[in-house]
Amino acid sequence: MIRFYKTPWFTRVLYPSCIFTIPSHNKIYLTFDDGPDPEATPWVLDELDKFNAKATFFCIGKNVELNPEITKKIVRKQHLIANHTFNHLKGWDSTDEVYIRDIEKYEKLISQFTSSKRLFRPPYGRAKRSQIRKLTGFKSIMWSHLSWDFDPSLNTRLAVTKLKKAKAGSIIVFHDSQKAFKNLKIILPEILNHFQHKGMKFDTLA
Ligand SMILES: [Zn+2]
Repeated sequence: MIRFYKTPWFTRVLYPSCIFTIPSHNKIYLTFDDGPDPEATPWVLDELDKFNAKATFFCIGKNVELNPEITKKIVRKQHLIANHTFNHLKGWDSTDEVYIRDIEKYEKLISQFTSSKRLFRPPYGRAKRSQIRKLTGFKSIMWSHLSWDFDPSLNTRLAVTKLKKAKAGSIIVFHDSQKAFKNLKIILPEILNHFQHKGMKFDTLA
């Protein structure tokens, strides 16, 4: 299997309206998908604090329902919460109507915690183009770099080396999930350390 740590050009061609990088000269954008998780998310929040880093959490609605206190903590620490659907739907397997309704269900839930910036990331980084098009009022956020932290057979040394190639304006994906936690614990501190030493700031996407 080929692991693309850097998003290949053809993905950008497939989704011309999606955002893959943010113009910046000194910021890296860390994003965490699939939480909140009772174990991984509090650890991530502590780790970010150590580096005075802000990040964006693409939460799943059903996990927000299960973990309201952790959700509040993300908001309290001035990170950004964004939409990753309510049920982590696969766009390919969903009708446009079901897909959009799931995203709106998430927005309704999250409005109890924070004012939404209406940023959306499709689960698995894939959706039908018709679905992306129908998401009016949302910005669809992909990524420039993927950590592969969810992969149990990951070579974390190699992942760290590849992620260090990110530049100002890069959007990096991690996962605050049980599945990714073992790898995340190794990769995230190294990445925070590396880019802090390069004089980068870690900021939210909006
Ligand atoms: Zn996801």
